[in-house]
Amino acid sequence: MVQQGQIDHLLQEAGEIPPPPHVSGQATLSDYDGVYARSVADPEGFWAEAADELHWFRRWDDVFQWEYPNFRWFVGGQTNIAYNALDRHLTTERRNKAALIWLGEDGTEQVYTYARLAQQVNRFANGLKSLGIGKGDRVVIYMPLTPEGAISMLACARIGAIHSVVYAGFSVGSLRDRIQDAEAKALITGDVGYRRGNRVDLKGIADEAVEGCDSLERVIVFRRELALEDLREGETDFDALMARSGIDCPAEVMDAEDPLYILYTSGTTGKPKGVVHVHGGYMVGTHYHFKNFWDVKDNDVFWCMSDIGWVVGHSYIVYAPLVAGATTVFREGAPDFPHSAVFYEVIEKYGVNVIFTAPTAVRMLMRYGEEPASRYNLRSLRFLTCAGEPLNPEALRWAYEHICGSGEWAHMVDNWWQTETGGPCLGTTATMTTRPGRVGKPLPGAVMDIVDREGQPIEEPDKGGFLVIRRPFPHFSRTVWGDPDRYADTWQQIPGVYSSGDVALRDADGYYMVVGRADDVLNVAGHRIGSAEVESALVSHPEVAEAAVIGKPDALRGEVIKGFVTLRMGSEGSDRMINDLQLHVRRELGPIAVPSEIEFTPMLPKTRSGKIMRRLLKAQELGLDPGDITTLEE
Ligand code: AMP
Repeated sequence: MVQQGQIDHLLQEAGEIPPPPHVSGQATLSDYDGVYARSVADPEGFWAEAADELHWFRRWDDVFQWEYPNFRWFVGGQTNIAYNALDRHLTTERRNKAALIWLGEDGTEQVYTYARLAQQVNRFANGLKSLGIGKGDRVVIYMPLTPEGAISMLACARIGAIHSVVYAGFSVGSLRDRIQDAEAKALITGDVGYRRGNRVDLKGIADEAVEGCDSLERVIVFRRELALEDLREGETDFDALMARSGIDCPAEVMDAEDPLYILYTSGTTGKPKGVVHVHGGYMVGTHYHFKNFWDVKDNDVFWCMSDIGWVVGHSYIVYAPLVAGATTVFREGAPDFPHSAVFYEVIEKYGVNVIFTAPTAVRMLMRYGEEPASRYNLRSLRFLTCAGEPLNPEALRWAYEHICGSGEWAHMVDNWWQTETGGPCLGTTATMTTRPGRVGKPLPGAVMDIVDREGQPIEEPDKGGFLVIRRPFPHFSRTVWGDPDRYADTWQQIPGVYSSGDVALRDADGYYMVVGRADDVLNVAGHRIGSAEVESALVSHPEVAEAAVIGKPDALRGEVIKGFVTLRMGSEGSDRMINDLQLHVRRELGPIAVPSEIEFTPMLPKTRSGKIMRRLLKAQELGLDPGDITTLEE
């Protein structure tokens, strides 16, 4: 839900930031206007050319088939994304190049070359096969951010199993729902994750979550602390499985349209939706943007600060960088732990050239001031990119000055996308001037627009409307797992176009500003959470009769959650009850979904049809006129 005040504030922002000449001068996407124009005039030729850079076991017959709202890319083509991410490099000089550099919060470092990574993936892929897992089977991955997490994903892809990574910050209810919805045959879980020096007991959560998951036949445990004897009966040890499996495992020949993964994300209902991405088009599009938007070159070091639990981690920690043969740094834990300068230390130590981070991380760094940044040499950095939530101009300016050396060495930009789009759609490229508060322009292949409720384009500059996509590109998701109608609905809410659920506006020069969600989806620290999910978690507490949640602006996390709760007769609202409810949500969904505030109320405002009016609650909370808040759902 978006407030008019947010828009007005951003519109007043001026102070453009041009790209440093040494950055724009070497950009791979040197002619944005020309390339963009071609990508929309001849999308099939454009994407076929991008696909030709990669390996296909069989070339496609047809580039694109569009039977609204369904579509297919590279029809008849056969490939495997894991083959492209690994095997393709093994016959080249990249064979012994660092593919992944993993850092633990305690300073541990592990480097995987392409050859070594391929070997480990093959071993694990053979291990999965030996457990009876094969093409089309669903495998849920509940792993800390580790090389073993990435290896699990790649091994599934290699044998054609469909992985579904569940963020290791989610808890029992979320994990169970996802295992059940995907009807997963196997679960790969870690025993613990580490964050801010604390251990997160993933195995304990997994043990509870698997109860009642009838489809599950196998549980594989990656042990960091547990002893082998601690495994439960029937569980398989990750390392033992590796050790007994061979290093040769030919990649399964996959149809371009075969599912690669399911990634659950929040929508407007209480049930998360399983967004499905495929081997062929997803590989082509994410790889294209890695080279053309992130502008990563062969000798660069790339650092993506997301997690494999999110789409950003799928596309830009694991798949696209490996398909491109790049070197990627990734790190478990918080960006300000064990000390406030660890972010800068990593840039200096590894000579990081391109970073993909989130505004929340930038705001966190900003809180510590510029002193930690000044202690390190950050000159290797060329391109600092952010996505996941609105990048507020204050954070942009601060980072530009203190992390990018005011443009002496790096450019700083925003980009917009979502789980469904697989890769970026709007962004400021390496040759473009950054406009604070604005994301940038449509990226090649993305036909974006802003429309009103009836789907009429809004041509007038700086006038807010719904952000839509007019045509699917190769890396766009194909369906919602087990619920094709829910997928179709995203193309039919506003007829003929895909509704992103966001509110945006466009200035006279074609720069888009994405202000926030138009629906009841919250964005806490860049993580998407459905109001309805948090509400159903609250209502599942035995003493709660009804609940509504809203997002409240927050200086660090963008938005925090406030819950309004009506208790059952006989129950009393108290501090203890608040604590109890917070613990309950944490247990059901995980720490990111916990309301930071809870207010007890004898009743909730409703429409005549009984729908809770979150908009009214939000307006009251923020002291606004309810007309100042937009929701798509009314
Ligand atoms: P997710 O699917 O979890 O990646 O979340 C996608 C949502 O995050 C989008 O629909 C937006 O609401 C928000 N988002 C992502 N990137 C940006 C951005 N650059 N500016 C504003 N909002 C963003």
